[in-house]
Amino acid sequence: MEITLAIIKPDSYRNGDTGKIIDRIISEGFNIKEMKQLRLSKEKAEGFYNVHRERPFFSELVDFMCSGNCVVLSLERENAVDKWRTVIGATNPEEAEEGTIRALYGTDTGNNAVHGSDSSENGIIESNYFFLKRD
Ligand code: GDP
Repeated sequence: MEITLAIIKPDSYRNGDTGKIIDRIISEGFNIKEMKQLRLSKEKAEGFYNVHRERPFFSELVDFMCSGNCVVLSLERENAVDKWRTVIGATNPEEAEEGTIRALYGTDTGNNAVHGSDSSENGIIESNYFFLKRD
């Protein structure tokens, strides 16, 4: 079993798509190990996207992620990382395959509905970033 981190981002949360995305997560065979709703602080968002710190879109990305509520989920499944990335589709919703979450609920690269970890290692690191310390 593998772990991946999913985030329902502020755009899809605002649009009322949270329930539909969670239904999809379950119907695709993921076990929701952890889940919480939160509004990210600037520091938490900057830390999460630290690898992108030097990118021109970094401050836009951080502002967007802090612009409203998110739902963060740690998901478990066989091949969870690749499976979740297939279910969510390409980073740019306009290029995402029909029926994928980003095609259904995203708008553009900045407002792309959901996050998914990009490797097995990052699935664990990112889940620990949100869920290691219990509330
Ligand atoms: P992902 O793994 O598919 O989420 O894509 P990346 O790791 O390349 O980028 C991380 C996140 O940064 C994306 O999901 C987008 O939300 C955001 N992002 C990437 N490129 C851009 C961009 O050009 N402009 C803005 N505003 N955000 C971007």
